[in-house]
Amino acid sequence: MEKRYFAGVWVSGFSRVRGKRLYGETVILSGVFRLNVPQCVKCVGGFCAKSDWEESQLPEFCPMKHKGEVIEEAMSKYEDDGARELYVNSTIVEQQAYMIIRGRRISVRPRVLEVIKFAERMGWSRVGIAYCGGLRNEARRIVEIFESVGLEVYSVRCKCGNIDKTVFGVPKEYKISNLFGEPDRFEAGCNPIVQAEVLNSENLDLHIIVGLCIGHDIQFTEHSEAPTTTLIVKDRVTGHNPMASLYSAYHHPRFWDEEQG
Ligand code: SF4
Repeated sequence: MEKRYFAGVWVSGFSRVRGKRLYGETVILSGVFRLNVPQCVKCVGGFCAKSDWEESQLPEFCPMKHKGEVIEEAMSKYEDDGARELYVNSTIVEQQAYMIIRGRRISVRPRVLEVIKFAERMGWSRVGIAYCGGLRNEARRIVEIFESVGLEVYSVRCKCGNIDKTVFGVPKEYKISNLFGEPDRFEAGCNPIVQAEVLNSENLDLHIIVGLCIGHDIQFTEHSEAPTTTLIVKDRVTGHNPMASLYSAYHHPRFWDEEQG
């Protein structure tokens, strides 16, 4: 399909939920809008979450407008029993994350508890934790919590396998020790494939990522044979809370002057 572009500014009025004003702000989106590729983030209407819309209201980049066949094919995948069980239980756990307190919808379950509750609903009792050595104390605490509710927990640290980073082709100038002028010092590399395979060998119900590095987490997931979720995403600067960069000028990537690649 030919790609079409539209450059401009899109201004919407107040966001509304069930006809009520929710945020007293005007949404202004600017930049290049590509018209027939998915660009949901640039959509102001959010029609996919509503019940009363017409196709003519959808923006040109809306997948519901130009990806009909893909969506239909995807929908058919929920007919698989396993997919349906996972989907239904996730959606129930999503609802149970809230309570109505003093007339308001309040979130009541931190992610650690949601993982426990989800495993419970799925009937999963044997879980494996692939963790970063830099978060060993947090990983230990997570294991304590999981074991305290009766889960059988296995854990593998990122350095398991004990290889120097150069063994699988990392140039020695990219060792952390080289920042101190010691590129020849042994430096154990992370080993996400070993983490995945060790956990795979135990045939577990669920694998949980705790703070693996970007890229290593992808490789772990690729090689993981059990359903895999992330409990802690690594962010060395923000206390493992990547959202902080979105809200704080001190952490905003735009203000970081990176001199080296
Ligand atoms: S699916 Fe369509 S209506 Fe929903 S956010 Fe994306 S562009 Fe907007």
